[in-house]
Amino acid sequence: MALRTAKQYIRSLSDGRVVYLSGKRVEDVTKNPYLRIAVDLCAMDYTLINDPRYRSLMVENDSEGEPSSFVFMPERSAEDLLRRREIIQLGARVAYGKGTPAKFTGIDGLNTVTVVCRRMDKKLGTSYSGHVEDFRRHLQKSDAAVALAMTDVKGDRSLRPSQQQTHKDYYLRIVDEGSDGIVVRGAKAHISLAAVANEMIVLPTRAMREDDKDYAVAFAIPPNTKGITMICPEPDIKEVGDFFENPICASVYVSDCLVVFDDVFIPHERIFMKGEWQFSGDMAYTFGNFHRLSADAYKSIELEFLVGAAALMAEYNGLEKAPHIQDKLTWLAMYVEGTEVLGRAACEHCVGEPGTDLVYPHPIYSNISKFFFADNYHQAVKYLQDIAGGIVATAPSSKDFLNPETRPLIEKYLGGKDGIPAEHRLRLVKLIKDLTSSYEGVLTLHAEGSLAAQRLSIHALADFDRYKAAAKRAARIQDGTEHPIYSQLPDFPPRTLA
Ligand SMILES: Cc1cc2nc3c(=O)[nH]c(=O)nc-3n(C[C@H](O)[C@H](O)[C@H](O)COP(=O)(O)OP(=O)(O)OC[C@H]3O[C@@H](n4cnc5c(N)ncnc54)[C@H](O)[C@@H]3O)c2cc1C
Repeated sequence: MALRTAKQYIRSLSDGRVVYLSGKRVEDVTKNPYLRIAVDLCAMDYTLINDPRYRSLMVENDSEGEPSSFVFMPERSAEDLLRRREIIQLGARVAYGKGTPAKFTGIDGLNTVTVVCRRMDKKLGTSYSGHVEDFRRHLQKSDAAVALAMTDVKGDRSLRPSQQQTHKDYYLRIVDEGSDGIVVRGAKAHISLAAVANEMIVLPTRAMREDDKDYAVAFAIPPNTKGITMICPEPDIKEVGDFFENPICASVYVSDCLVVFDDVFIPHERIFMKGEWQFSGDMAYTFGNFHRLSADAYKSIELEFLVGAAALMAEYNGLEKAPHIQDKLTWLAMYVEGTEVLGRAACEHCVGEPGTDLVYPHPIYSNISKFFFADNYHQAVKYLQDIAGGIVATAPSSKDFLNPETRPLIEKYLGGKDGIPAEHRLRLVKLIKDLTSSYEGVLTLHAEGSLAAQRLSIHALADFDRYKAAAKRAARIQDGTEHPIYSQLPDFPPRTLA
C-alpha cells in the first residue's frame, strides 16, 4: 500500500489512542467535531498526492520501484530541498496558509535522524542508521502521517534536565532498559497533530552534558502505544463548520497537544539515540535547521493571505491610493517577498554532510529567514489592523448577518466603497480577525523555535572572521592575520596607478 487514500488515512486513526479534549476522553478522534478538523486537514495531504495534477511533484518510486511519497526520500541536492519546499507551498496555498501537514514536522525529524545517526555511527561505532532506514521503509510502505515531538515541558528553564528539583521528569528520559528496548517517562509540549498521526518521532530538545545522559533519547513510536496520553487544546473557533465567522480557524486546527509518556516501552529497533549525550545538541540543532526550512516555505505563503487581506481592505474602503496606506502595502510586499527569497536561498545554498550524499539547508540562511519572518510579524499585523480599522474587533457575528431582521441594517451600514457588498467586506474582516488571532501571534514567535533559538544559531554560525577581515582591509589594519577571501584580493586602489 505505498500510497494511501484520504479515506484509508482517516480509518487508520480509530485505533484506541488515548486523547483528551475539553475535559473529556475522546473515544475516536475521527468522530470528535474539533479533532475532525485536524483529521480533514491532514487528509487533504492524501487527497493531493492522489491527484494526477500533483503526482509528478509529490510522488517518487522507492528503492523497490513502488510509488511513495517524495518527502520520505533522503534529501541529496538543492533540487530535493526546493521540491519539498514546493510541496509544502502547494499545501499551504490549498489550506489557507497553513499547509496540509500529515507529513510536515515529522519529515524534518526523519531528515534529522538520517543525518545525525550517520554522524553518531561514524564517531561512536553505533548502528542507529540501520534503524532509521528500516523506519523509513516502514513509512514508505505504510504512507504514515508523522508528527514530531521535541519540545520538553522543561520545568525551571534555568536548570538542565538532571538538575530539576521538583521532579526528574520535566525532560523525557530513559527510566529502564532491557535487551529488547527501553522504557521512557516525561512529557512533550505543543506537539502539532500528534493526536491524528500514525507515527511520532521523538527527539531531545537541547544539548546535554554527561549527567543528563538518560535524557539523550530519540525514537519513533505510534501515538496509540500503551502509556501515551495526549491532551489537546480547543480550537479558536465559535462554532464547528461556520466558515463565515472563522474562515481559516474553522478549517485549520493543528491540535498542538501535550503528549505524556507514562513509562512507555520503546522497542530496540525503533531507537535512534540512547544516552549518547554528546550528540543531543546535534539532534536539536539539525532539527531546528530542517524545520526552519519547512516553516519558511509555508510562512511566505501564509503572508500572501495576510498581505492580500491588507490590499483588499484598502481597496474595499476606497483607500488604495492614500500615501500612508501605499507605504504600508509596499512594506508588506517587501516582507512577503523577503521571506520567500531567504527561504529559497537556504535551499539553493544547501550544505553537504561530510562523508555522505546528504544535504541540509544552509543553516544561517534558514535561521535568518525564520527570524526575519517572526521578528517582523507583529509589525505586519499592526499594519494590517491599522488598514482594516476597528471593525475587526467589533464586527457583528455571521449569525447577525444571516438573521433577516439585522441583515438589511448590516448590508446598508457596513458596506465599503461603491460596488463592494457589505457581505464581502464582512467576510474579509472575519478573515483578518483569524489571521491576527493571538494563536497566530504565539505560533509565529514560538513554533519552529523561539527568536532566541534562531539568534543562538545565527551567532554561532555567522562568519565573523570574514566580516572582520573586510573591516580590517578597508581600515588598512595589517595585524598579520590572513583571510582566504580578503587576503587574496588585489590592492585597491592599484599601487601601479600611484
Ligand atoms: C503552535 C505551536 C506549534 C508547535 N508545534 C511543535 C511540534 O509539533 N513539535 C515540537 O516539538 N514543538 C512544537 N512547538 C514548540 C516550539 O518549538 C516551542 O514553543 C519553542 O521552542 C519555545 O519553547 P517553549 O514554548 O517551551 O517556550 P519557553 O522555553 O518557555 O520560552 C519562553 C521564553 O523563555 C526564553 N527561555 C527559555 N529557556 C531559557 C533559558 N534557559 N535562558 C534564557 N531564556 C530562556 C525563551 O527564549 C523565550 O523567550 C510548537 C509551538 C507552538 C506555539
